Amino acid sequence: MYDVVIIGAGISGAACARELSRYELSVLLLEAGSDVASGTTRANSGIVHSGYDPVPGTAKARFNVEGSRLYPQLSEELDFPFERNGSLVVAFSEEERPALEKLLERGQENGVEGVRIVEADELHELEPKLSGDAVAALLAPTGGITNPYLACLAFAENAVENGVTCQLDTQVVGIEQREGGESYLVRAVHTPLYGAMPDGGAEPVEECFETKIVIDAAGVHSDTIAKLAGDESFHITPRAGEYVLLDRSYGGTFTHTMFQVPTAAGKGVLVSPTTGGNLIVGPDAIRREDPEDTSTASEGLDAVVAAAKKTWPAYTWSGVITNFAGVRASCLEHPDFILGEPEGLSGFFVIGGFDSPGLTAAPAVAVEYAATIANRLGAGENPKFNPRRQGTPMFSRVHDEGRENLIGQDASWGHMICRCEQVTEAEIVAAIHAPVPARTIDAVKWRTRAGMGRCQSGFCLPPVAEIIARELGIDPAHVRKGARSSVIALGHRGCLTDLPVVAFPGEGDGNE
Ligand SMILES: Cc1cc2nc3c(=O)[nH]c(=O)nc-3n(C[C@H](O)[C@H](O)[C@H](O)COP(=O)(O)OP(=O)(O)OC[C@H]3O[C@@H](n4cnc5c(N)ncnc54)[C@H](O)[C@@H]3O)c2cc1C
Repeated sequence: MYDVVIIGAGISGAACARELSRYELSVLLLEAGSDVASGTTRANSGIVHSGYDPVPGTAKARFNVEGSRLYPQLSEELDFPFERNGSLVVAFSEEERPALEKLLERGQENGVEGVRIVEADELHELEPKLSGDAVAALLAPTGGITNPYLACLAFAENAVENGVTCQLDTQVVGIEQREGGESYLVRAVHTPLYGAMPDGGAEPVEECFETKIVIDAAGVHSDTIAKLAGDESFHITPRAGEYVLLDRSYGGTFTHTMFQVPTAAGKGVLVSPTTGGNLIVGPDAIRREDPEDTSTASEGLDAVVAAAKKTWPAYTWSGVITNFAGVRASCLEHPDFILGEPEGLSGFFVIGGFDSPGLTAAPAVAVEYAATIANRLGAGENPKFNPRRQGTPMFSRVHDEGRENLIGQDASWGHMICRCEQVTEAEIVAAIHAPVPARTIDAVKWRTRAGMGRCQSGFCLPPVAEIIARELGIDPAHVRKGARSSVIALGHRGCLTDLPVVAFPGEGDGNE
């Protein structure tokens, strides 16, 4: 019997897991994907919104502002990237000025600190590459950027370090409220990524967990999970947003996150630096039948780039290293977040309709849910709770002396695997043995940036696969890219990672 089972290890489930680990509770975090942040948390703008946009009085407004205030401390405690770069919502004509004033009023009503309108002179000084048509903008100094994947991973790892069990590859397929309503049975199918089957996978296993509390944090599938428990009160309409991501040589084009005045379709196309030093352009908003459909098409991407040119007229299609899409868990009938326990389902906590600003709001929702649940179950504080988590240093960001020290301790810090992003073997090995282990090419890529650079893993994929195979004791030909079905190699001939090479930037790169 668990106290709490959380379904979904995106930012909302992982943040709940970490908050619940402050208390003496047994908590199980179940995730269908092969890694945390397998859903929307992996693919969004990465903006920690200041909170001027949501309608005052809504859950979105409240949790957005509270979440935005939590991020600086969370980033420091949990060691994930966050920068308070500020955001600008730009008006390109005097006709758009009333919209800025409305946002200013909303921001003030929502309690956003320091929000104000800047006029053209100051605006162009702040952002010299901005279109000359810009007449004014709403400046929100508390706007920020984060790496949503690393934030989610940090929550999940700190939760595990504080006693939460995180089980990946486990899809919840049934939920039953037990007689008397005191507990739930959660049925799931666990399909381990690696096993003894000919393709290197494992047979699916049915599992059943009894728990006093369930948190439905299943993102675009939150309505399906709620239905399994008997709640049919909301329906998710998936809406995809497509992006282009530019090479790091464009990362300094704008300092702030550049929004345009919002329309009925949403916050419009933004142009923003990322915490990884890239520039992100997007998204659009396209209805999708399939909530898992993260495909991109030239039609949408062309429209995104055309819209971005309003902000940045000099932009051509150059510098794009990849494109991707994320899917919003929107509920059209109920545009606010859907939070709380549906009627008749005491102990079943929903996080539904959790579209933007869900990334920002999740930590604040988690604080509230964890306190409510701990209070309900009469749980005391976890005396061993450690709020701090230390990630692995990134070799690319360590100064020369620090690099020498690292290599002195372990020569694999000098074995450069991804040359675009300067990722070493030591970082990859650390990711594979982390509290939430990376077991796929994608999981290594998202944690370490190996494969995220200009060549998009053209060079580093084989050695990364071999390191994963070596560390997990599996055949390199069985290493998955991401999902269970994503075997990447037809066979295997040699072992690149056995080459006795040491690379140290500035002293030649002998790693091929
Ligand atoms: C285009 C776009 C841009 C956005 N930009 C921003 C932004 O800049 N700032 C911001 O604050 N918000 C933004 N958002 C919203 C934000 O990304 C989401 O609110 C947030 O990521 C939702 O997190 P989640 O944990 O609720 O859902 P998810 O991240 O989708 O996590 C749900 C998890 O549940 C798992 N799951 C599903 N079904 C099951 C099952 N049956 N069993 C077990 N596990 C299951 C999934 O695999 C997934 O990992 C954006 C969203 C989109 C799509």
